Amino acid sequence: MSVKKCPLGKEELEALSKRFPTPFHIYDEKAIRENARQLKAAFAWNPGFKEYFAVKAAPNPYLMKILKAEGFGSDCSSYPELLLSEKIGVVGEDIIFTSNDTPAYEYAKAKELGAIINLDDISHIQYLEDEVGLPELVCCRYNPGPLKGGNTIIGHPEEAKYGFTREQLFEGYRMLRDKGVKRFGLHTMVASNELDGSYFVETAHLLFELVGELSAELGIEFEFVNIGGGIGIPYRPEEDAVDIEAVAEGIRKLYEEWILGRGLKPLDLRMECGRMVTGPYGWLVCRVLHKKNTYKQFVGLDACMANLMRPALYGAYHHITIPGKEEAPRDLVCDVTGSLCENNDKFAIDRALPTIEIGDLVVIHDAGAHGHAMGFNYNAKLRSAELLLREDGEVVQIRRPETVEDYFATLDFDGLPDFEA
Ligand SMILES: *Cc1c(COP(=O)(O)O)cnc(C)c1O
Repeated sequence: MSVKKCPLGKEELEALSKRFPTPFHIYDEKAIRENARQLKAAFAWNPGFKEYFAVKAAPNPYLMKILKAEGFGSDCSSYPELLLSEKIGVVGEDIIFTSNDTPAYEYAKAKELGAIINLDDISHIQYLEDEVGLPELVCCRYNPGPLKGGNTIIGHPEEAKYGFTREQLFEGYRMLRDKGVKRFGLHTMVASNELDGSYFVETAHLLFELVGELSAELGIEFEFVNIGGGIGIPYRPEEDAVDIEAVAEGIRKLYEEWILGRGLKPLDLRMECGRMVTGPYGWLVCRVLHKKNTYKQFVGLDACMANLMRPALYGAYHHITIPGKEEAPRDLVCDVTGSLCENNDKFAIDRALPTIEIGDLVVIHDAGAHGHAMGFNYNAKLRSAELLLREDGEVVQIRRPETVEDYFATLDFDGLPDFEA
């Protein structure tokens, strides 16, 4: 069971919406910090443990600075994400650059920042060398293929576009060694939104064993293994959060057996979670604009898929509450929709909710990761503001809502030819 509670109640949200009109995303700084500390504490047995926050989950510099203050690095996947990290002072090996199908200019920026470059494919060894030169430290992304079972968002590893095969991994590190690379890391990411903690323990096991084999075969030493991101969050109230302490303890036992027990050099354990870091601590707050009764009952919000795409994209469940009616009987079964001209623009389908009136506030839970970040401008919809509930109870705007001017910023109306002349 997980409790679905927004830190602000009806009165506070009503007052807030006078300053910042709905829809908006709001994040809870205190809860983000507490969760970050809990993660670090669980892995304190590994002195080099580091979480690299997956920037794509919530690319907002305020949130990133909070996480930096908690000792997290950045996991970047593109040039602008590298710039974001640089702007908040996360540079050097506090960045891991895990990209795929990567253009040379992105590698160049990663190298300039001194980021750890995590290669997605064996062909990128030569590409990186030719385009920007090899750094002293290189990490490779392993795809275990059929050795690892599937997971719903990422799918079966052998179908995934990411990573080196096992054979390529041996070949790749050999090439890197022979080209003079001195420092090595090993990475994998085979899960997304996985709630079974044992999955991550198994992943660490896979990597520890592989470090032993690669070290023995190639005579190289590894500095770290990165078990990737993908720790799930309980989007549904009946689901349980992953027991991080149990995962950390499971990994510690394997580390002692497979790394220390075999006389390998001590390793830093790394991960690059996004969802579990900010996901449960962000809410999309919106308002009921219309009610419609046809073959079904519809509740139309002032937000749409541009603000939160996961339900429409993956059929993902996001819990919905109506502030002030948290305890009311849920006697209305309805589809909760946005305004896009796309029938899948629905936040919920056949959801049981309390009786809803036009003008009611609506809180969509667990929108703190892959929420605002996935927003898009289809149908010329504008993305909403992001707000932060500070630890002292103040609310600050950490991203203003988009305006029509933002939407038109890439167009040149003055330069339009006069086709009618
Ligand atoms: C998306 C992604 C992450 C973060 O995933 P979460 O599910 O948010 O934890 C980490 N690493 C890589 C390579 C990714 O693609």
